[in-house]
Amino acid sequence: MINDLFVNACILIAIIGFANQILINKDITPSASLKYRLFLSSMLGLLGILLMVNSVQVFPGVIIDFRNIAIISSATYCGMGPAIITAIIIAVFRLLYAGLTYPSIVAAITTLTIGIGSGLIIRLIISKTKQWVYMSLMILMLPSIALYMLINNQTILIESLITYCIGTSIISTLVFFYLKYINISQDAYRKYQLDSSVDYRTGLNNVRKFEIELNKIIKGLTEKSIITMIYIDIDFFKEVNDTYGHQNGDKILEEIGKIILNSSSYSDIVSRIGGEEFSVLMMDCPRDKVLEVAERIRKTVQEHKFPIIDGQEINITVSIGVAIYPETVNDINMIIEKADEALYQAKRTGRNRVVLAS
Ligand code: GH3
Ligand code: MG
Ligand code: MG
Repeated sequence: MINDLFVNACILIAIIGFANQILINKDITPSASLKYRLFLSSMLGLLGILLMVNSVQVFPGVIIDFRNIAIISSATYCGMGPAIITAIIIAVFRLLYAGLTYPSIVAAITTLTIGIGSGLIIRLIISKTKQWVYMSLMILMLPSIALYMLINNQTILIESLITYCIGTSIISTLVFFYLKYINISQDAYRKYQLDSSVDYRTGLNNVRKFEIELNKIIKGLTEKSIITMIYIDIDFFKEVNDTYGHQNGDKILEEIGKIILNSSSYSDIVSRIGGEEFSVLMMDCPRDKVLEVAERIRKTVQEHKFPIIDGQEINITVSIGVAIYPETVNDINMIIEKADEALYQAKRTGRNRVVLAS
């Protein structure tokens, strides 16, 4: 019997772990999109069924499993409505599986009550741990009452209650810590994903993400594609750092990032690709529009008053190189080099200007 209970627990833990791997990028909480919550609660309903099918027969006619933990997990992740759905799936299956007998009706009612109860507990404004403890107490108490109603033999009743309560307490505690561990590793995974694609100073794409996006664009290239790279470099930024300090330099980088983002459109890929170098990748944009955007960035930076920590305001300029495939670069793989050459030309010919690669 212990072996069978262990198998039931293993099914539960394995499926929770597997589901979390699949949904690692989805933030599933009671306030997430209803579609995901309904999907997950239905899956938890199926998990409950699987646990029921693999339930443990303590005595003839007395079965025990951990289906109720699927319901309280549904409440924790998906909220009240989905928890009730999980409970309905399990209850309906219970009735179909064992027929309309007195024990299956009692079991179905108990399951539905647990669905509603856990949904209500999850709405209480208390810590997640307390919610889980209350729900665990509920899934100990309600099925115990059901067992009391169904079993007349006192020895069988006591043995069944002990088995159910000890098993459920252990597995519920285990699942709680497992879910907690999964949450921590999910957060770490997401943080790692963010760090690997976002520049922490400006919030723009970092150079890694820029390269990934450029490679994607190159892969999807068609005969009609027009790809533009706008390469922006702050003028005399070393001097700015030397005069006003690195901290002010950092603030200026943040502001320039915002200006570039505001000057470009939603579909453009704006990145910080070096210390004081930025880029905008644009798709299918005609030359005049591209030059208009580059000029808008240059002019906005020139006219912007950058506040300095001691209350002063300073002016900064940027130089910009532009390369357009296939108009000014015939090899897409050379687009960065060509934009860089144009940028170098802009620096050489006096800075604070836009140069289109030739
Ligand atoms: P140019 O007009 O030729 O581009 O001159 P420049 O001084 O901007 O060019 P240079 O490449 O010599 O200097 C770039 C400077 O950018 C050097 C470094 O101090 C500064 N810089 C790079 N990354 C950061 C950063 O994250 N924060 C700050 N504050 N400064 C940075
Ligand atoms: Mg530079
Ligand atoms: Mg510079």
